[in-house]
Amino acid sequence: MQAEVIDGRRLAREVTDAVAAEVARLPRKPGLAVIIVGDDPASHLYVRNKVRTAERVGFHSETIRLPADTSEADVLGRINWLNSREDIDGILVQLPLPPQMNTLRVMATVDPGKDVDGLHALNAGRLTQGSQALIPCTPMGCLKIIKSVIPDLTGCHAVVIGASNIVGKPMAALLLEENATVTQTHIHTRDTQFICRGADILVSAVGKPGLVRGTWIKPRAVVIDVGTTRVEQADGTVLTKGDVEFDEAIKVAGAITPVPGGVGPMTIACLMENTLIAAKSRIG
Ligand code: NAD
Repeated sequence: MQAEVIDGRRLAREVTDAVAAEVARLPRKPGLAVIIVGDDPASHLYVRNKVRTAERVGFHSETIRLPADTSEADVLGRINWLNSREDIDGILVQLPLPPQMNTLRVMATVDPGKDVDGLHALNAGRLTQGSQALIPCTPMGCLKIIKSVIPDLTGCHAVVIGASNIVGKPMAALLLEENATVTQTHIHTRDTQFICRGADILVSAVGKPGLVRGTWIKPRAVVIDVGTTRVEQADGTVLTKGDVEFDEAIKVAGAITPVPGGVGPMTIACLMENTLIAAKSRIG
């Protein structure tokens, strides 16, 4: 029997429709500001999609586009200005930043109450303590997808491949909060495939197309593919590839997210949800 292919676009629509309904009842529009530095086409595409969704749910949104050679001081100054503005509830700095910038210092400058990407150390710390935090959008989206298939994760063995601050680590923390038994693997892990074969829930957040083979997957497991790698084809077209060898995995897994159309739309939906949460706490 083939795995259920999880429709991330449909789930994302449910989230954004709920956000739009709440926005319509607020006394003012929530405001989302996005800063993007440099001219990476993929980053610009992600930002356009975020802004389009923000406008659809009824937010005020603005995008600050800066050249790749912008100084860190310039970016910090703009963040401080956005921090001080009453009409801006959420600030998103699109990553990656150019090499002259220290990402952690940039994230630390965002007001934690407006940190809709959940990357400020205060929000990351609150997440690991299980207290109220703005949670990074991609792992939050993954968790919603997982819970659409397995509502109660208590006692499930979850394996997270990848341990970045933006996806892997917060993903593991969220699964732990849901009472799953969590194993986190990374580039230095020995025998990753053996560990993966024990997973009821397998989340791959690496960025290496085809890393996860069908033989790595426990029969009927839920497989969440966060990987998003743009691969140029022989004819010059560009395809977006996940980490999971989809054609193999679909024969073994119980449910699986496609790339594209899985985690990506849910990441944007959770950004909208975070901006609404930030706005509601500021509007009072
Ligand atoms: P990253 O490069 O910061 O981290 C990658 C992680 O994978 C590291 O922890 C590294 O140790 C681990 N790793 C590398 N090779 C490995 C291997 N062979 N086996 C096991 N672990 C290995 O990347 P990131 O920012 O966490 O992003 C990961 C992927 O997710 C990328 O493809 C990125 O584009 C994608 N992504 C997608 C979304 C989305 O909305 N769909 C959002 C964020 C990131």
